[in-house]
Amino acid sequence: MLRNIPRPEDFALLSVQYLAQAIDHILNTEKNFGDFTLSDTEYTDEPWEHHQGILGNSLIMLFLSIENYLKSEICKVSPLLLISNEPSKWGVKNVDKDFEDQFFHPFDDLIVIYQEIKGVAFDAALKSDFEVLRKKRNKCVHGIQREKMTPQYVLDAMRVFLVKIWGVSWLQSFREILLTEDFYGLDSKDCEDLKILEYFTLFEKYFSEDDFRDLIGMPSRGRRFFCPECETKKIEAGLIYDADYALHNHANQEVECYLCTSSTPITYKQCVSPTCQCDIICLSEESIALELDTCLHCWQDQT
Ligand SMILES: [Zn+2]
Ligand SMILES: [Zn+2]
Repeated sequence: MLRNIPRPEDFALLSVQYLAQAIDHILNTEKNFGDFTLSDTEYTDEPWEHHQGILGNSLIMLFLSIENYLKSEICKVSPLLLISNEPSKWGVKNVDKDFEDQFFHPFDDLIVIYQEIKGVAFDAALKSDFEVLRKKRNKCVHGIQREKMTPQYVLDAMRVFLVKIWGVSWLQSFREILLTEDFYGLDSKDCEDLKILEYFTLFEKYFSEDDFRDLIGMPSRGRRFFCPECETKKIEAGLIYDADYALHNHANQEVECYLCTSSTPITYKQCVSPTCQCDIICLSEESIALELDTCLHCWQDQT
């Protein structure tokens, strides 16, 4: 009998962990270049020419994340679909054998099995993207990567995987599994939100507004506002990146944050700042994060 048969969530956990590592390799390096480099939209890839190994590691982590995501989905149908060798070669008859001692399908085969069980067909562009990724990953693993790699390439490949394969639920799964260290002296949910704020800042640097919104499941239209909770937390943590990932929901008279997922009631009142045209104000009694009524466009207190 086969023992230690894995569960889909085992592979999902690995997929999220590898994804976080793929992002962290790029994020932490850019932070070492300087805090403003991370949020700078006028940039060159020049500093990265000396950190090609880190990009290679990031790409390998991304590849592992995709591979494990495919395995987790296939495993939902049957873990046996992951094994490539014939059952007659699984081991000595009537003797227990460990699942992990079997041979598993390579990436190309996992892609085919995934499409079969999902009843989907990848378009030519996606197949080509995966083929390029697979070849680059092999070159990185074997240390023969000659052409220069850019963070743009790795992050674009990641975005394509998340948007076209995983879908918008990736962020929720990511949130459920992401384990952050208590860097900022805040509780773990707050730390996670601040980590995701850094990820969003990195994504915004490299992606167009439309692609970024697509990635995080935010509608393509609608002005963005500060989330009172996220912006306050980020100020307390000493981060410089804007936490403006909330959209106005007119029907409910509130702003909904795509970072921390909270909703905050708002009041329509002209901002006191003469240069601000906004009338979306959060009253201090409506938010535990605020001590004063605050404009959610310019963050000016309304005293
Ligand atoms: Zn928020
Ligand atoms: Zn204002």
